[in-house]
Amino acid sequence: MNKKNEKYNTLLSPLNLGAFTVRNRLIMGSMHLGLEEASDGMTRMADFYKRRAKGGVGMIVTGGISPNIRGTAVPFAAKMTTTKEMLQHQQITEAVHQYDCKILMQILHSGRYSYHPFGAAPSRIKSPITPFAPWSLSKSGIQKSINDYASSCLLAKQAGYDGVEIMGSEGYFINQFIAQRTNKRSDEYGGSYENRMRIAVDIVDAARQVVGDEFLLMFRLSMLDLVEQGSSFEEVMMLGQALEKAGVNVINTGIGWHEARIPTIATSVPRAAFSWVTKAAKEHLSVPLVTTNRINTPEVCEQLLAAGDADLVSMARPLLADEDFILKAEQDRAEEINTCIGCNQACLDHIFKRQIASCLVNPKACFETEFNDDVTNNPRKIAVIGAGVAGMSCALESAKKGHKVTLFEKSDQLGGQFLLAAKIPGKEEFKETLRYFQVQLSKHKVDIKLSTEPGVDELTDLNFDHLVIATGVKPRQVNFKGMENNPKVLSYPDVISGKVTVGKKVAVIGAGGIGFDVSEYLLHEKSAISTDVDEYLKYWGIDKSLRSRSGIESVERVIPEPSREIILMQRKPGRLGKGLGKTTGWIHRQMLKDGQVKMLSEVEYLESNEAGLLINHKGKEVLLDVDHIVICAGQISRNKLFDKLINKLKDNTNINTHIIGGAALAAELDAKKAIKNGIELAQSF
Ligand code: NAP
Ligand code: SF4
Repeated sequence: MNKKNEKYNTLLSPLNLGAFTVRNRLIMGSMHLGLEEASDGMTRMADFYKRRAKGGVGMIVTGGISPNIRGTAVPFAAKMTTTKEMLQHQQITEAVHQYDCKILMQILHSGRYSYHPFGAAPSRIKSPITPFAPWSLSKSGIQKSINDYASSCLLAKQAGYDGVEIMGSEGYFINQFIAQRTNKRSDEYGGSYENRMRIAVDIVDAARQVVGDEFLLMFRLSMLDLVEQGSSFEEVMMLGQALEKAGVNVINTGIGWHEARIPTIATSVPRAAFSWVTKAAKEHLSVPLVTTNRINTPEVCEQLLAAGDADLVSMARPLLADEDFILKAEQDRAEEINTCIGCNQACLDHIFKRQIASCLVNPKACFETEFNDDVTNNPRKIAVIGAGVAGMSCALESAKKGHKVTLFEKSDQLGGQFLLAAKIPGKEEFKETLRYFQVQLSKHKVDIKLSTEPGVDELTDLNFDHLVIATGVKPRQVNFKGMENNPKVLSYPDVISGKVTVGKKVAVIGAGGIGFDVSEYLLHEKSAISTDVDEYLKYWGIDKSLRSRSGIESVERVIPEPSREIILMQRKPGRLGKGLGKTTGWIHRQMLKDGQVKMLSEVEYLESNEAGLLINHKGKEVLLDVDHIVICAGQISRNKLFDKLINKLKDNTNINTHIIGGAALAAELDAKKAIKNGIELAQSF
């Protein structure tokens, strides 16, 4: 182990958790990976977790595993109910235990969040986010469920886990018993709070009896439900104390049900936006507490831990993004961390589409076994032209593999479209990816040539073995009467980069990701909702005094008056923003609704003139009185250089020419595909 880096003194300090001591205060939190159900998933998971253990994390919590068949999230989802299932987990625990790292299995019963018709819950009340109403459990069904939890704990212990995390938050089964919203029972598991919390205590009691004292029980307790008819903070503390008595070693502080309409982990949530809740809970509870939600740097971890706001920090996505998070902190290389930007695009969005999770900034995550990280014994000379994320990822991966790389960029900065994305309010984290590439490209000695646009002859004369064209995209022009040389008509890069001053009344043409981004930029240019915790809490109506039930009841949201009148349009029929991220699209739609953005579909753009923009909307001509029209109509590839090279090199077999990212295909390109594209090409050299 390296000498402790004093900068992160608390983060890197061990902690006695009762059942055992962890080497540091960082827990990799539970996250479903989709590998749990994949055919070779257990082997891949073992490799995935082993890498994180090697990378220094103190303790890992697996994705949720159901204690019985009715509790599974989807048909055939992972459960821990038999010896056969238990044996499959041994490779995971053995892999992790090769390092000084502990691993817990999370036990998660989905209750009414099950995507199958056999779900079981306290009462037969369908959730707003799943298609089936659950079955209400009989008393013997409750007893059986408690026994199932205990037996899963025992199997987890036999599989070599160091403990379990019992999922009691985020609106799952146990949380459904605790909250009046979902528990309408009249027996001893319903009615008063003491009755509603009974199942949680019974489960911990039963678990402790079968596993003994050396096995860690962590309970994920919902601190703020963020839905109507949830628990009050006093009630949560009452349950926390009862759980302590029943034998939990650690309490993890969960925030928000899945059905809550408040973002809690998206990139537009400020960092550590909920650590104040853990801090408040510390006054009432005595076991170590874990804080979580939008914590993604060692600096923030250290700040929270050193201030005593929590005893441990849990993060899941940042360890998808970088398996060596703690190692880099230990070695004072934090600036080399590939920071999770909270986009959800390749992790949660994949899971909700039943795909295997990965990471936008680290496409190797969960696919580790498919990549070869060995250094080549045949180093080649590679030129990458264009330093957007596709070009940078290709250049970096090539250099890491031992090739000699030159990266050419026409502008005076690295980043391409990502530079624009980072300027959008709520996407501030995107800057971290730019910092990561800058630091890593320099560390791996990529020869960066900014403000350089090499021509065909120059490139072919420089004896490169591979020429990689990553010249990206340019905005698609649209064509209607009065467009040309019209000062009212603006391009989205000019707007986002602040090159132009935009008036108070704006029409936005195109309602893809960029149309939404531009609208948010124009609305919230000067707001701090995504960077200042108090502003965020006010905007979403969360009570910091913890007096409101669920953290939200009777709290008015403070939504600023819109700074502009915005009309966002598309030509196709249907709801705007359909193609936005599965887990984040609703946030963008809500924020534009809050900003009173008018959304029009089935629009034909007719003419721009002195008076504004003339459109045909659903068969009627309408004149929009606007100061500016911003074109966000998608992009087209910049691929001229590639065509010229192919033409010139058609008989030359010594130089291989490749095209990646937006330059290859602009349609539906996003950063996730671009980064993956770059890495995959580099792996083939
Ligand atoms: P996009 O998603 O393809 O959207 C282009 C928009 O322009 C559509 O609304 C389209 O709708 C309209 N359009 C296309 N051709 C047009 C034409 N000739 N005249 C007028 N309107 C036209 O492209 P984007 O918004 O530039 O985004 C690019 C990529 O970045 C996408 O893959 C996107 O997913 C990604 N991105 C995602 C996010 C996010 O999820 N938050 C944010 C930014 C970017 P109609 O054809 O119906 O008019
Ligand atoms: Fe983080 Fe986005 Fe990667 Fe998910 S996909 S781990 S949110 S950077």
